[in-house]
Amino acid sequence: MNILVINCGSSSLKYQLIDSDSEKVLAKGLAERIGIEGSVLTHTPAGKDKVVKEAPMPDHKEAVRLVIEALIDKEHGVISSLSEIGAVGHRVVHGGEKFDRAVLIDESVIGDIEELSALAPLHNPANLIGIRACADNMPGVRQAAVFDTAFHQTMPKKAYMYGLPYEYYEKYKVRRYGFHGTSHDYVSKRAAEILGKKREDLKIIVCHLGNGASISAVKNGQCVDTSMGLTPLEGLIMGTRSGDLDPAILSFICDKEGLTPDEMNTVLNKKSGVLGLSGGLSSDFRDLCDAADKGNELAQMTLDTYCYRVAKYIGAYAMAMQGVDVIAFTAGIGENSYGVRTRVCSYLGYLGAIIREEDLKTRGEEIIVTEPGSKVTVMIVPTDEELSIARQTLALL
Ligand code: ADP
Repeated sequence: MNILVINCGSSSLKYQLIDSDSEKVLAKGLAERIGIEGSVLTHTPAGKDKVVKEAPMPDHKEAVRLVIEALIDKEHGVISSLSEIGAVGHRVVHGGEKFDRAVLIDESVIGDIEELSALAPLHNPANLIGIRACADNMPGVRQAAVFDTAFHQTMPKKAYMYGLPYEYYEKYKVRRYGFHGTSHDYVSKRAAEILGKKREDLKIIVCHLGNGASISAVKNGQCVDTSMGLTPLEGLIMGTRSGDLDPAILSFICDKEGLTPDEMNTVLNKKSGVLGLSGGLSSDFRDLCDAADKGNELAQMTLDTYCYRVAKYIGAYAMAMQGVDVIAFTAGIGENSYGVRTRVCSYLGYLGAIIREEDLKTRGEEIIVTEPGSKVTVMIVPTDEELSIARQTLALL
């Protein structure tokens, strides 16, 4: 069966059509600038050149229509008709406490996702628009919601509660939820598979280091802690997000700079992280590593600070799980950046990791980078959230 995987943002829509039998990607693409002038669809059929089509997309319904048109196009298409799409799997950011697994979408699920928009006002409404746009274009095709938070729902209360008045949890459900769950689940499973072991027998730390970054502790197959919180702002330093900081800094800076809470929020989400820390140099680790290699001290300090935070979380999670068997790096930076991995790994000797420096240079491939006798196995495991969404969708059918 072919499964269309959709990741819908407020003005963009990413898709992959996956054949669930072979698990091959038949086509993938991106619709950008939806609802804005200059909308463009980039469609890449497997084994063929990508096609870039500029076409008005006043709304997501039209974007989905164009995606389907591209998928069944005589020249660039990969299927002959809409009937060859068996189901649609949607990435939905916030499932709150309600969803601890993927579900088939019906009216009541739509209502729940809508209600959870209070916790993810930038994401859930956009995800819902994608769900409705698909329902309009593909009536009768079953759709699944795969939540970014679901995998983390196994965390114990001591890991998800904040030191705040309890009434905020009762009234507003203020607690740690965690994100990137699909990736943490996929990578921890895959790491165990590569090692020929059961995930249920391992203590795994997954470092998902992309533009957004989070780290999780997966003990005997279940998430027991993760670094992102009520929102994706907490935890590691990210491309443009601050990660952990002293909460008192917020009112201090608001006061000094005359910022409103909303403006401060924008600073924390868009102007902080490695971009802010490097004095505006870049949020891209390729630029930062290049600059650091050329002796730029701000870039070096930024990388050192970023990697120290990752190492501190690894230490904390090793303690939380009372041990660690596997540390896996994934996502854009985790899969590709030697500069980041080598700095993080420089802290791991204490855990008994014996790193093979040459292997640390590998990019984008599954590889074990520690010696066979190493007490903890460090690996690179490229993530595949779309495949995981397709698998979960298929399982629900
Ligand atoms: P997201 O999905 O959160 O947008 P990704 O997982 O795609 O992010 O990661 C994007 C980041 O990966 C970029 O900001 C870039 O810094 C980093 N990256 C990609 N390729 C490389 C590379 N070859 N070396 C270092 N960093 C890289």
